[in-house]
Amino acid sequence: MRILLIEDDAMLQKQVLAGLRSAAYVVDTADNGVDGHHLGDTSPYDAVVLDLGLPRLDGLSVLRRWRAVGRDMPVLILTARDSWHEKVAGIDAGADDYLTKPFHMEELLARLRALIRRAVGHASSELRCGPLWLDTRNGRATVDGQALVLTGHEYRLLAYLMHHRERVISRSDLVEHLYAQDFDRDSNTVEVFIGRLRKKLPPGLIETVRGLGYRLTAPT
Ligand code: CA
Repeated sequence: MRILLIEDDAMLQKQVLAGLRSAAYVVDTADNGVDGHHLGDTSPYDAVVLDLGLPRLDGLSVLRRWRAVGRDMPVLILTARDSWHEKVAGIDAGADDYLTKPFHMEELLARLRALIRRAVGHASSELRCGPLWLDTRNGRATVDGQALVLTGHEYRLLAYLMHHRERVISRSDLVEHLYAQDFDRDSNTVEVFIGRLRKKLPPGLIETVRGLGYRLTAPT
């Protein structure tokens, strides 16, 4: 899952970035509204964390511009304490949720998980595909109750496929959602990781759909 973090407070950005990375997200960052708007306008993100008070272009304007052109990714806004009018304005501008500063990283992570799974139509934080279970709260994956030992990259790949199970996901989709912007993107790498992940899963769970991509599907 790929997250865009737009926050101009360098210390806070650093803390949130570390928290997001330790929860296995790939993250792009911006420290002003103009750059942040551009990233969200041109790259696909699974969710955005958007501070409202930003230099060059304020967060509400960033959000309104995205929504005006149909960019519908989940957006969590960060608002100042005791500023109920910011929350109202943010939700009216198209925010999906808000968090008041200061906040606990655990709460930000829980809200993001909820936004991401709702955006793809899942109500529960435990995702299932046949014998495979993924608990998105703690990153635990099991097959028939046996824990899977996954690298960070394999986990990200599996989590993305689990969120979009029974759908065909193209290699370029995977590249877009598994790598940050500054990463060397080579779609052959995706094949390598798919191969490694397959070896850890029951046969047939990850299908190759020729010419289109991959599909995680429960064996019938
Ligand atoms: Ca700010």
